[in-house]
This record gives sequence, structure tokens and C-alpha cells, in this order.
Amino acid sequence: MSYRKHNFSAGPCTLPLETLEEAQQEFVDYHGAGMSLIEMSHRGKHFDDVASEAMALSMEVFEVPDDFSVLFLQGGAILQFSMIPMNLLNPGSKAAYVNSGTWAKGAITDAKEYGEVYTAWDGESCGYTRMPSSSELAMQENTRYLHITTNETIGGIRFSEWPEVDVPLVGDMSSEYMARPLPWEKFDLVYGGAQKNLGPAGMAVVFVRKSILEGCNKNMGRYLRYDIHESKGSMFNTPPVFPIYMFGKVLRWMKKEGGLPAMESRAAEKAGLLYDAIDNSNSYYNCPVDTASRSHMNVVFRLPSEELEQKFLTEAANADLMNLKGHRSVGGCRASIYNALPKESVIALTSFMATFQSRN
Ligand SMILES: *Cc1c(COP(=O)(O)O)cnc(C)c1O
Repeated sequence: MSYRKHNFSAGPCTLPLETLEEAQQEFVDYHGAGMSLIEMSHRGKHFDDVASEAMALSMEVFEVPDDFSVLFLQGGAILQFSMIPMNLLNPGSKAAYVNSGTWAKGAITDAKEYGEVYTAWDGESCGYTRMPSSSELAMQENTRYLHITTNETIGGIRFSEWPEVDVPLVGDMSSEYMARPLPWEKFDLVYGGAQKNLGPAGMAVVFVRKSILEGCNKNMGRYLRYDIHESKGSMFNTPPVFPIYMFGKVLRWMKKEGGLPAMESRAAEKAGLLYDAIDNSNSYYNCPVDTASRSHMNVVFRLPSEELEQKFLTEAANADLMNLKGHRSVGGCRASIYNALPKESVIALTSFMATFQSRN
């Protein structure tokens, strides 16, 4: 649709057009109920169907084995930074974290409030331009879990290979959720905010291994306990009704488009187009990230000067290429190319990049 701009926002971000149109059509009068879905009880038939379908589809599309449960929680990914150590850490156990950049640092800061935490690898000295290999991880005794940020949204790096360690992994997958398959046997918990691949903001989607729930801490307010949410099917309190509803539509879209394998190969293709444009620009565009760690979701790049970057961003916006500014903490440019961003948008960007270079 011509009035839709190319939206490279890092989050909240572009969603599949058909899910927005569908929601628009049924928004005021949901399936003849005479009211909107967001106006009715979350314990009624209509919402029950919506939530059950979203749960079932999230397990199916993301190829999650039966020994996990999915939880729909409020508070975004950042509340999980606290809930994870609160639930998983006990006196005597420690948590290991990979410090891969801004989001990992946030997870470490919050975890330290609740238990003994150490950094198993620190990317600070290399400017957070790559992820560690397994042999670089300095693991200690009595470690309950290793926390990784599978994709660092701001730095534009991802784990291209999963860490090989003797402890369960916990993964913040916010910015590459359902964009690649996971070796589930390695994980106890996977989480992320919904607003980067799954739907609108207002919800964290958490996959938790059922067998760990019994051993989780219970001395905290009830909303913070995974075991309670799991036993109530994420209906302990009023769940995030609208995000769940939209997530269900996005999941249907993902399934129809070919599921996880299609999402993964499209992401690789779109990222490949952009990195090629950067690599073939005679260093006019420059990606600071180690090749092996390059993200398939957030492509960061610089131009020869900050003045040119500013000009690039202004002219790109005039050409309907929106939200290409890098995070305020690092500057430069960033194209977030999540699942719902059409390949055509990436092509529009690469041709703009070529024209901009030839003119400047
Ligand atoms: C966006 C993001 C977060 C924060 O998510 P909220 O839902 O806003 O709390 C955490 N981790 C990563 C990797 C992110 O990209």
C-alpha cells in the first residue's frame, strides 16, 4: 500500500499489514458480539479462544517442545531481567551473564539486586562488536544458568553459534524472536518483549521449562512467580488482552508464510542484501561489527562523517525510508529488518544508499 512508509524502527516496529487491516475490520464489533474484544471479559468465550490459539500457535510456529510452557506477562522484557534471578537463583547458586552490550548490561544490573551474579565474558574491551566463542566463557562452580542476549538490538550483533556450557541457558530473544530456530534442550527459559517481532508493546512472551518451576523461589509477590502464571495459563490476573490478540494474528501470518524456516531464510536474505550493499561500497558505508556476529535483524552502519549521516537520515526520511537513526547511545545508522519488514523495503533502502553515495 503506497501510504505505508518503509519502517525500519527498532521497536515498536512494523507489523504485517494484513494483521492491522484485520484488526481494524473487527475492532468495534468483534465477530458479531456487539462490542470490541478489548471491552469484554478476559474469561469469556471470545477471548478464551483468542488466547488459546495464540498459545498453541506460539508453541507450534516456534517449534517449542512439550516440556515448555508459554507465558504472556506484562512488564516487557525488562521486568524479566528481575523475575529471572528472583525465581531461578537460590542462596548458594550464582548466575553467569555474557555482557554483550546495552541490553545485557541492563540484565546484569537488575540481576545483581537478587543474587550472586558474575560476568562470564565481557565485550566492553572490543566495543561490543562481537559475541564470544564458547571457549572464552569463564564459568564458575555452582552456576545456575548462563544468561545470553541472543541478539543485541543496539550493537547489531548476534550469537551465530550457541554457547556450549554445562549449565542451562537463559536467553533474551527480544529482537530476534521467532526469526531462527533454537536448540531448546540447551535452554531453561527464553523471553522477550513482543514489540520487535511478535506484535504491539505491552507484553513479554516467556517460554519456561516446566520441570524447573517446582524448584523456583516462592517468597515474593504472586505476580512475580512463574509457577503461578504457569498454573493459571497466564490468566492469574487480567492478561495483556490487546497484545495477545495481535500476537495471535501475527502468528497466523507467520504460519501461513511458511513458519520459522521461512522467517529464518528471509531474514538471512534481507540481511545479506544490506550487508552486501555496505561491503560493496568501497568503505563509504561501514559496519563496525565482526562479520561472524552480524545480526540478521538490526543492521548497524556508519557513513564517512556525522554530517553525512545526518544528511543521509534526512534524505532517507524524505524518500519514505523511516527510523534509520542509530540508538542515541551509539549514533550512526541502524536498519531494523524484523520479520514483517518486506524485502521490497530493504531493496528500496539499498538503492537509496547507492544513489546517496554517488551524489555525496
Ligand atoms: C527492546 C529490548 C529489551 C527491552 O524490552 P522492553 O519490552 O521494552 O522491556 C530488552 N532486551 C532486548 C534485547 C531488547 O531488544
